Amino acid sequence: MATCGAVSRKKPPPFVLGLRCLRCGRQYAPGELDYVCGCRPNQGSDLGTLEVVYDYAAIGRVFDPQTLAQDRDPTIGRYWPLLPLAARASLPPLGVGGTPLPAAPRLGATLGLAHLYLKDDGRNPSGSLKDRASAIAVARAQEGGWPIVATASTGNAAAALAGQSASAGQVNVIFVPRSAPPAKIAQLLVYGSRVLAVDGSYDQAFDLCAAACAEFGWYNRNTGYNPYMTEGKKTVAFEIAEQLGRLQGGAAAVPDVVFVAVGDGCIIGGVHKGFADLLALGWIERMPRLIGVQSTASAALANAWRSGLDVPEPVKATTRADSISVDAPRDAVKALAAVRETGGAFVTVDDAAILAAILPLARLGAVFAEPAGAAAWAGVQAATQAGLIQPEETVVVINTGSGLKDVQAAMAAAGEPTVIAPALEAVRAAVGHWGPN
Ligand SMILES: *Cc1c(COP(=O)(O)O)cnc(C)c1O
Ligand SMILES: [Zn+2]
Repeated sequence: MATCGAVSRKKPPPFVLGLRCLRCGRQYAPGELDYVCGCRPNQGSDLGTLEVVYDYAAIGRVFDPQTLAQDRDPTIGRYWPLLPLAARASLPPLGVGGTPLPAAPRLGATLGLAHLYLKDDGRNPSGSLKDRASAIAVARAQEGGWPIVATASTGNAAAALAGQSASAGQVNVIFVPRSAPPAKIAQLLVYGSRVLAVDGSYDQAFDLCAAACAEFGWYNRNTGYNPYMTEGKKTVAFEIAEQLGRLQGGAAAVPDVVFVAVGDGCIIGGVHKGFADLLALGWIERMPRLIGVQSTASAALANAWRSGLDVPEPVKATTRADSISVDAPRDAVKALAAVRETGGAFVTVDDAAILAAILPLARLGAVFAEPAGAAAWAGVQAATQAGLIQPEETVVVINTGSGLKDVQAAMAAAGEPTVIAPALEAVRAAVGHWGPN
């Protein structure tokens, strides 16, 4: 069995021209390197982050809105010319994406928003948006002949890698902070991953995973470090554009604003790349403003944006929203570009507002989110107060993770049920305490 994927790597993805370093501008041929540019290989937030460059003219010759509309596959495979894969069939059978975009008029009305939509990515197979990236990681590992894939994760990236690996029969190793919510750790164990629960922070798990990959020749899925994860996450933007387009009777449409919770910054960078791809193909005519939401207790990127820095100062993250608890964001270059280049913003919300946002999102929007997912809605509230969005604008809020991922947080927000004796009298007493609907 090969210990180094580079030797056994087969044909390259047909539409990828190469990789470009967003820090020093150096270009690389497809497959020339796997992770970050040598200008800054191992420097926390100041990585030589690579961008995957596509041949849009060639894609446009085989891929158009009519072809796409006829594709019955609701998963990310439908976008395969825009994915960094040699073959569509390399995606694991456990389909990812195709999540709903319901309108949420009652939730919108609470803030005077007339056109609010919720992109519910908690409904991916492992319960988070991370499935989009992990599908690409496993597909690339299999195309490249890597025997083992590894990742560090606050929990969801790991659960996603575990599920996609189970689907494809891929051996995988997971580094999670020991403090990750039990539901996420259970997913890893159930799917059969080799789980290393690191007695330390996510940032420590990240560095340890990178060191272990170098030592043992594993394929590293780490967010920000592996340039291809953006390419999976961007598919959420393709779906939003297609779904809004369908509602408006066209092939694709752009919201005015998209809200997403931010930790390392890979998702918001992916959303940016997805809309940028569609703009380059001429399917859409403008970009949406991207608004990143961080907890005040994990705000490295929001701080950098506010002070105009390109490299965030690390923080000591303590937020209850574990999926966005990050000291030194690893995808800072792409995250800051996403906000700056679209005229967006970063907003911060405290943990009390994040937990409180779980309830309106579920009760008025029917989306049950984990704390990090609910943070995006808390961010809409903050942005409305700050005058960053207007009542008539089309606003999309991405829920990045299912509420079942962290039931303790949900119960903290929702409280306890009324316990009663098994008697009608007890029901009568309880009903007497209820207000009018
Ligand atoms: C990973 C994750 C985020 C943050 O994504 P980044 O790419 O780290 O910014 C937000 N919400 C959930 C549920 C996540 O799993
Ligand atoms: Zn570089």
